[in-house]
Amino acid sequence: MNNHQIPRAVQWFVSSPQYTLLKTWGSSIYQEEEGIEAFVSLFPDRYSADVLAENSKRYNLENAYSCVKDYFSRQYGYQLSSELISNFNRMLNSLQNSGEEKKFIYMDELLQLSIIYFLTTMFIWDDQKEDDRAYGICFKHILGLMNQACIFGDPPSDRMYKEILSLLNGDTHIVDLAESCFWTIITFTLAHEAAHEYMGVMNNSGQKKTSNKVKEEFAADGIAYDMVLRNIMGEGNTPFRLENFTYLAPMMYMDFFDLYYYTDRVLYKKYVMMGDHPTPTDRKNALFKIVQDDKYDFDTEDGNDLYNCFLNSYDLYKDELLLKEQRGKLKAATFTERRNRMDE
Ligand SMILES: [Zn+2]
Repeated sequence: MNNHQIPRAVQWFVSSPQYTLLKTWGSSIYQEEEGIEAFVSLFPDRYSADVLAENSKRYNLENAYSCVKDYFSRQYGYQLSSELISNFNRMLNSLQNSGEEKKFIYMDELLQLSIIYFLTTMFIWDDQKEDDRAYGICFKHILGLMNQACIFGDPPSDRMYKEILSLLNGDTHIVDLAESCFWTIITFTLAHEAAHEYMGVMNNSGQKKTSNKVKEEFAADGIAYDMVLRNIMGEGNTPFRLENFTYLAPMMYMDFFDLYYYTDRVLYKKYVMMGDHPTPTDRKNALFKIVQDDKYDFDTEDGNDLYNCFLNSYDLYKDELLLKEQRGKLKAATFTERRNRMDE
């Protein structure tokens, strides 16, 4: 079944996530072999198909989730029972559900694709901001990502991703940085959803009460970030290791959502209703408080530098979007009718 024509389902799915539908309705658009081929042709001196295949055996969703399971068992003596599902349903989202059918964690491929594309482009933009051509291309790509993938649910195309990667002229340093941050964000997100399962069970058994949903979101973030930071510090016996320079990647994840909502405001004057979720900025501030704790002890210098580079691009995008909007230069990229139809 093809559900590419029903973006409105996004809202429906979120309000009523159902195991069978999420698992069987969408179809995966992830193509490992084609991806490996494209990477080898773009970076022939750096990557071979064997190395990339080997790498994806180590860094993949299942291993990230195993690592999360291991953390809950070590830290809380709790065995997670949610099944992990990843599929393409045009949702920029992940969720945990303990409904009637089965406990599961769902993470949409749109979210995964968007994050890796976002990180790569943001890092390239800062690196090449003095080059007018690269600057223009990076702005166009972040705008396209926010406008098409985030707002409308259209996945970024291979062609777009290749255009961005070609700016690197064969240098893979930035690809490696983005990839490492990507896995930290994925692990953080899975741990956040797993924390919902854990807290749900604790609430039902009366051991621990979280009084409202906003509080539960902050608590889930707190558990997830603790998991990420402990992995970075080398805790647990796992080959799935997150790099210490990625320790602020969860902040980049919050900034990603912040830029999405910002773009929606500037282009369509829409204000995303957070409902029972705190804003990305509130979540980010709460994460900063957590990491200040002395119990998290590791080298943060490279991570701070990387986040500062990211923030340069973040500011460039915000300023540039507003400036172009005020000068009426975004008309070709504004699809007001389509956007209004989504709210009907
Ligand atoms: Zn949550």
